[in-house]
Amino acid sequence: MRVIVIGGGTGGMCLAHGLRRAGIDVQVFERHRTRTDGLHGYRVGIDPDGSRALKACLPPEVYDLFRRTCAAPPETFAFLDERLRHTLTVPLRPPADDVNDEKSVSRMTLRQVLYTGIEVRFGREFTHYEQHDGTVTAHFADGSTATGDLLVGADGTNSRVRAQLLPHARVEDSGVVAIGGKVALTAQTRALLPEGVFPGIGLILAPHGLACILHVMEFPWGPGGASPLPDDPTRDHVNWGISAHRDRFPEGVTGFAGPRLVEQTLAMTPRWDPGLRRLFAATDPASCFPITIRTSVPVPAWPVGNVTLLGDAIHTMTPGQGVGANTALRDARNLVRALTSGEGPLSGRIEGYERRMRDYGFAAVAASKARTGGDQLVHRPVIGRLALAGQRAFLRATDRVPALKRKFEASLYTTRGGDRED
Ligand SMILES: Cc1cc2nc3c(=O)[nH]c(=O)nc-3n(C[C@H](O)[C@H](O)[C@H](O)COP(=O)(O)OP(=O)(O)OC[C@H]3O[C@@H](n4cnc5c(N)ncnc54)[C@H](O)[C@@H]3O)c2cc1C
Repeated sequence: MRVIVIGGGTGGMCLAHGLRRAGIDVQVFERHRTRTDGLHGYRVGIDPDGSRALKACLPPEVYDLFRRTCAAPPETFAFLDERLRHTLTVPLRPPADDVNDEKSVSRMTLRQVLYTGIEVRFGREFTHYEQHDGTVTAHFADGSTATGDLLVGADGTNSRVRAQLLPHARVEDSGVVAIGGKVALTAQTRALLPEGVFPGIGLILAPHGLACILHVMEFPWGPGGASPLPDDPTRDHVNWGISAHRDRFPEGVTGFAGPRLVEQTLAMTPRWDPGLRRLFAATDPASCFPITIRTSVPVPAWPVGNVTLLGDAIHTMTPGQGVGANTALRDARNLVRALTSGEGPLSGRIEGYERRMRDYGFAAVAASKARTGGDQLVHRPVIGRLALAGQRAFLRATDRVPALKRKFEASLYTTRGGDRED
């Protein structure tokens, strides 16, 4: 079997490793021209679903490299208000083993890990495919083609493979816009963050539906060292991201770049903790990016064939649960299993993969949207204040009552795959 993968991102690369390990002929085509193009600067949390998939698909030495290049695992999850007062702090579980834990990785580093030991055809922008008798030919913008027995669209949210296979499938604007950025971790910037955010995750829930996530990223190579991966400039940093309903942002914000995004963040947070504002101001403007948060509209089953999809190409989700990459990795592992160890005809195995992937993928889309969607109460003008007050009261009560805290802690893990095998 010859498999063509469109998209050398998180899911596509995991799939390619898994197929290659199983002795299947696989070729990956990526539109970016080099290993470092594109938006790779932010933190990705890898949960047990993601780790299980990576461990199953990557050669052991590459999985080991992945583990060795993760940031220090977060020890706490702190909920804060905009003055950085704690409402709830939840200790995170220490790793049970090399799969059942929460890993923090820089997306740039993860990309370089996934490119290790596998040839990717860079600069090959997929345009469309043609199906023949049992084979499928991919066409690229440079006029080249590639023919195989199965084509996998792993080409992300704006997937062209999906556009051709499922022209009726839609990706909607969730109504939420975010700005992300990175600040180098130094003695000065470290002092701007409150206790509990080190070494961990901070989530600020503020008036007007504004939220801000803070991830502290400290790498094994230390402040003065360098990543063992070539082309990986990742250094210790704090990753932040603010989000709000799009009405809170000026028109055209998603076209802003660099310093304008830092200014915009400061303009939206005038009464926030002065230390945190200094942290925003210290951001490397080149690391700042705006994102329109989008979400897939679930589609019913489609006729099975020799073209399939995985990851954001079929189930883009809001960051509400932090499982977009983990679900793409889960798809990759399940597709490898369907192609290599399932029983019965290939079409039946692909159908089985797609059925299951739609179930858990669209369930994750819905659950993520419920947590981070523009229609949440906190975004409404008057009732939003009451909703925030209710949220804070709940978090404070949870912080004080050990039984509630334990329940809350357990709920953080239920969607993250620690309790399932596929
Ligand atoms: C700021 C931010 C933080 C996030 N944090 C988390 C997190 O903590 N945990 C988590 O699980 N998820 C997280 N996600 C989501 C996660 O990054 C995505 O869900 C995940 O990368 C999807 O993987 P994928 O392989 O489907 O697509 P991608 O990783 O987007 O890869 C798609 C690839 O296809 C290529 N491509 C696109 N079109 C073409 C074409 N026409 N021809 C050839 N190649 C093409 C692209 O260049 C890209 O390399 C986050 C996302 C963002 C933006």
